[in-house]
Amino acid sequence: MRRGNLFVISGPSGAGKGTLVARLVQAVPDAWVSVSATTRSPRAGEVDGVHYQFKTKEQFQQLIDSDGLLEWAVYGSNHYGTPKASVQEHMAAGQQVILEIDVQGAFQIREKVPEAHLIFIEPPSMKVLEQRLRGRDTETEEVIQQRLAAARVELSRKMEYDIQLVNDNLDEAVSQLVSYVNEQAEKTRG
Ligand code: 5GP
Repeated sequence: MRRGNLFVISGPSGAGKGTLVARLVQAVPDAWVSVSATTRSPRAGEVDGVHYQFKTKEQFQQLIDSDGLLEWAVYGSNHYGTPKASVQEHMAAGQQVILEIDVQGAFQIREKVPEAHLIFIEPPSMKVLEQRLRGRDTETEEVIQQRLAAARVELSRKMEYDIQLVNDNLDEAVSQLVSYVNEQAEKTRG
């Protein structure tokens, strides 16, 4: 069986990556989304092992020390990382593996897996991004300000990605994302 592809999806918090990824997996049957490890506390409704693997700082450090992460980064005041073994297993099984990770992680992946496809999701504008972050009503003002600052840094690197998609109209953005993933996957599907 041929190895599957690795897709990295980044973009500012509030750009709508989560929704796009959920729609992508509905449309692409051989897609599999990696579940990251994080030291962040669960938000209301988040389930351990489904949305993230929630870890203590010590547990996360053990993952780093045992070379269990394909990449990891500090975002805000928390650690986030991609468990290596499950990504390798799903790629070996021929699946299209999706990582929803920040820009620091994306460029670590490009170093380690040069054939990975890097996709950047843009909000229509900073103003819309701010409205979406506030509309979530899950973050404190301090966290919102941190995320807006991070967004500016992330947006400054968007041209280093293989493709940029503006999430203005959701259906259009989904359709562009699904087409891109299928196009790349077709090259290796058996
Ligand atoms: P959130 O706290 O909103 O779930 O995620 C914050 C940021 O961390 C988002 O940009 C998200 O894409 C990123 N992120 C989530 N998982 C990982 C990971 O495994 N590695 C890296 N580098 N970033 C991640």
